[in-house]
Amino acid sequence: MSSEYTPPSFKEVGFHCPHCGVYAHQNWFDVALEGGPDDSGETLSLGTCEKCGRFSLWIDGEMIYPPSADLPLPRVEMPEGVREVYLEARRTLDASPRAASALLRLAIRGLISHLGETDDVAENLEYLNRRGLDEKIQIALRRLRMVGEEAVEPGMIDSGDGEETARALFEILNLIVDALLVQPRRVDEMLGKLPDRE
Ligand SMILES: [Zn+2]
Repeated sequence: MSSEYTPPSFKEVGFHCPHCGVYAHQNWFDVALEGGPDDSGETLSLGTCEKCGRFSLWIDGEMIYPPSADLPLPRVEMPEGVREVYLEARRTLDASPRAASALLRLAIRGLISHLGETDDVAENLEYLNRRGLDEKIQIALRRLRMVGEEAVEPGMIDSGDGEETARALFEILNLIVDALLVQPRRVDEMLGKLPDRE
């Protein structure tokens, strides 16, 4: 399976579904608006995902539902349990950035303990640092209050979280997956193709 991301696109036969995050065939329906008193001349279309059965709503070729469709989808390499929480946060952002942030901190803790060796986020980060996790990602995790004196307990609602924080939390999750799961795999694949010169 390709890990390329195909964003939702109007009347496309397949793309990565904004609900389930899977590349899936889409069925399209136009909803007739003509005739009635509110005939606005707009075309309303529905796309339905063959994988999860949920729909996207489009007006004149622009997706208006689901509302958080501009958020990145989880990397395919993201562990399953983390991915579920990520997608739940993605559906939640529009209604409540604080709730989405609480979910995302849970997802980040889950990812870090999946990659690390203990239950403690800070200890795992030290370990991941030795495995080559970028220092800047760790600085970002501190600013996003995953660790440090002002850390927020994952899963807890915090009044200081706004949409900017939530969007950054989505991004950092994907960045950690890239750094520790995707890139090492790609380097291994490349090495496998090169002649051995010990
Ligand atoms: Zn779907």
